[in-house]
Amino acid sequence: MDDGATMAWATGLFEGEGCIYVSGRKVRLTLVMSDRDVVERFQQAVGCGSVRLRKPQKDHWSEMHAFQVGDAEQVLGVLTKMLPLLGSRRRGKAEEAMRVAEETVRRKAVEFAHGTHSRYIQGCRCDDCRASNTRRCQEYRQRRRQTAA
Ligand SMILES: [Zn+2]
Repeated sequence: MDDGATMAWATGLFEGEGCIYVSGRKVRLTLVMSDRDVVERFQQAVGCGSVRLRKPQKDHWSEMHAFQVGDAEQVLGVLTKMLPLLGSRRRGKAEEAMRVAEETVRRKAVEFAHGTHSRYIQGCRCDDCRASNTRRCQEYRQRRRQTAA
């Protein structure tokens, strides 16, 4: 199969068996099936994600194989390729997920380096970022003392 046919196959499969999850700023695509070879072929077609065995919760249930991708950039890449091929049933949800993923990618792009006060403001509390905040506070107090004197 050429790339176009491969993607059309993957999209058709996803349309029937796949799931798009959007929760806050997180997006996730999953495809759960009992045929591992099909799930692996899907993973190869979209070029990302992982396939994991899902142990049956009851003895008589069959083993399921779960494809999953949760990286915003990768989700965006997959949905961008699928969107023109998707039917109307999934299109709305796919577009919603793409908006959320785009926002997450954009946010990541402006992430400041560790050890900067800006990163601390973004919410990081690693040692480097905390140290930079401590430094900032000390400088601030010093300036205030100088102004007061
Ligand atoms: Zn940090």
